[in-house]
Amino acid sequence: MGIFLQSGYNLCTEPAPEPSFKDTVLGFRQLTERELRIFPGYTFGWFNTALMVEGKTYLPWLMDWLQKRGVRFYHRKIESFKEVAETGADVIINCTGVRSGELQPDPDLKPGRGQILKVDAPWLKHWIITHNFFKKSLQFTIHHSRESSCDTCQLEPSLKHARIVDSWAGLRPVRSKVRLERETVQCGSSAVEVIHNYGHGGFGLTIHRGCAQEAARLFGQIVEQKGKGPKAQL
Ligand SMILES: Cc1cc2nc3c(=O)[nH]c(=O)nc-3n(C[C@H](O)[C@H](O)[C@H](O)COP(=O)(O)OP(=O)(O)OC[C@H]3O[C@@H](n4cnc5c(N)ncnc54)[C@H](O)[C@@H]3O)c2cc1C
Repeated sequence: MGIFLQSGYNLCTEPAPEPSFKDTVLGFRQLTERELRIFPGYTFGWFNTALMVEGKTYLPWLMDWLQKRGVRFYHRKIESFKEVAETGADVIINCTGVRSGELQPDPDLKPGRGQILKVDAPWLKHWIITHNFFKKSLQFTIHHSRESSCDTCQLEPSLKHARIVDSWAGLRPVRSKVRLERETVQCGSSAVEVIHNYGHGGFGLTIHRGCAQEAARLFGQIVEQKGKGPKAQL
């Protein structure tokens, strides 16, 4: 299903306060001096074990799980909320990511390009993440799926010899904060309830479960207010 546990290193160039994920991950601890010597230029950091979500396996698994429970999928472009409302939808959950602005203008939403190189390096058992809490930028080095850069090879020189298996690029839906709220949208003479759930930037997989739970809570609120019992039994 694309979810597994893996351990790795969080590296910083200077001491930083304990991160918010400290109590969410397993086995969180500070890196020892001996461990830090493996990574020149980094003087501080933490080690932990975390749940990893590998999207290319997880999303098909999730889709299959939903289909087996009666959820139907249609593959087509939506031009407007009005178009969906006219099909008889009581509630629209808007998860259109970086393209949300096409359905409703949102000046806070911007594309943030990212690139991933997948390499064959089975000798690597841990991930490495460099944090810069002061410049607010992140660089990932993850087992079997890495962002390519000279810095990455400096941290893990053996990667220079790894065979590139695949590469892809995409646009992250960057926003100052996730838009997760309900709105009554006027569509001509009628109104439709829309739950927006987009703008997850580079953390959409990490926080998807909590966001989906909040969207479901808002959905329940609307159903209750409209006086209809939910039909789905997921
Ligand atoms: C290179 C890269 C690396 C990343 N690494 C990580 C990571 O390590 N950890 C992490 O948590 N996140 C990561 N992310 C971010 C993560 O992929 C996104 O946050 C997440 O995909 C957002 O999910 P979403 O469902 O909101 O949007 P999307 O995944 O973009 O899905 C939106 C969907 O809506 C569809 N759509 C849009 N408009 C319409 C329309 N008008 N009609 C019909 N369909 C429409 C699109 O076709 C798409 O299928 C990374 C992103 C990139 C690009």
